Amino acid sequence: MKNEKTSALETRLTHLGRRPGEQFGAVNTPVFRASTILHPDLDTLLTSNQPYAYGRRGTPSSGAVEEIVTSLEGGKGTRVAPSGLSALTCAIMSVVSSGDEILVTDSAYEPTRQFCDGYLARMGVTTRYFDPRLGKDIVQLINENTSAIFIESPGSITFELQDIPAIAKARDDRASSGREIAIIVDNTWATPLFYQPLSLGADIVIHAGTKMFVGHSDAMFGTMTANEIFWPKLDETHGLLGLFAGPDDCFLATRGLRTLSIRMQEHQKRALFLASWLEDHELVQRVLHPALPSHPDYEICKRDFSGSGCIFSFTLPAASREALAAFVDHMELFGLGYSWGGFESLILPGKLGKARSINHWPEDEQLIRLHIGLEDIDELQQDIAAGLERYQAAM
Ligand SMILES: *Cc1c(COP(=O)(O)O)cnc(C)c1O
Repeated sequence: MKNEKTSALETRLTHLGRRPGEQFGAVNTPVFRASTILHPDLDTLLTSNQPYAYGRRGTPSSGAVEEIVTSLEGGKGTRVAPSGLSALTCAIMSVVSSGDEILVTDSAYEPTRQFCDGYLARMGVTTRYFDPRLGKDIVQLINENTSAIFIESPGSITFELQDIPAIAKARDDRASSGREIAIIVDNTWATPLFYQPLSLGADIVIHAGTKMFVGHSDAMFGTMTANEIFWPKLDETHGLLGLFAGPDDCFLATRGLRTLSIRMQEHQKRALFLASWLEDHELVQRVLHPALPSHPDYEICKRDFSGSGCIFSFTLPAASREALAAFVDHMELFGLGYSWGGFESLILPGKLGKARSINHWPEDEQLIRLHIGLEDIDELQQDIAAGLERYQAAM
């Protein structure tokens, strides 16, 4: 690759994080199992003058995936974590102190809320939730002690987008007093292939690499990437907390990234096709997919994203538990389970209940989230159509 910065993202996905010349020609960086890493002499040990010094602080296996994600996100550096959630909590902990406040989108992934309401509260950090569509008006919520704004765009259940350029401008207007306010973004849905929050004014991006990076539902993994300003804090906190990811999982994430582009294109195509088809289905109330022109955030999607992800939701008139079971218990292709981003399709019923504090979710809607895998698209469509018929018959 002649110039990393000007190369297309697809080319970077295939060529970064590889050093065949240093590993007997092997194409992908192999699994380096190591705790101890030897130093050739006292000088090197005392000056830390070699790329790797101890397994917890990195090996060529973690270095490979860090190099790819840093380049795609356009950050200063990346660190790996054993799960998406641990990357997310580390990113938050790296920018808050006791007495601070954090603003969190009301659409955030539920474990994010539990961390804020439970752990952060215990550590003396207050969380205030904001309407995901607040945009520039977030300026009114920023206080003297606000140290972070947490964004998940889109929210992975209800799919509201957040206007990062507007939020970043509000932050810049309020931060003129000299205080640093970090904008942290959970970018798991779009991946850096389709969305680069740092270029829109965010400071730290996290990924549940478990999803699209690994891409095969067979490993847990997380990354956090920071810009120049927040990299020293993020790197330090990652080290203090002793976080790392095992070399096998780093390898699986790196290998998954090699085909991210082609997988994203296929997932995107199928998800969009099925989402638009569901919009016209008589039983469906709303389809929540930000790349559909009917979605309230479609303009933001068109402006800031270059593609869309593999999960979306739709809502049905609420019905009995038996009706829901009739739908989801008898799917041929859609598995019933958490997570997403693998090659296989998944279905997950949801009710938001306590997971919202600002915008209460309608009680009379049954939410269904679909992860669209790589199966034949007609067969996926037939599977959903048959499920909806069973739901309607049992209502
Ligand atoms: C799954 C997920 C996480 C958490 O990732 P884990 O690897 O399961 O810990 C965080 N954010 C989003 C949007 C997710 O979908």
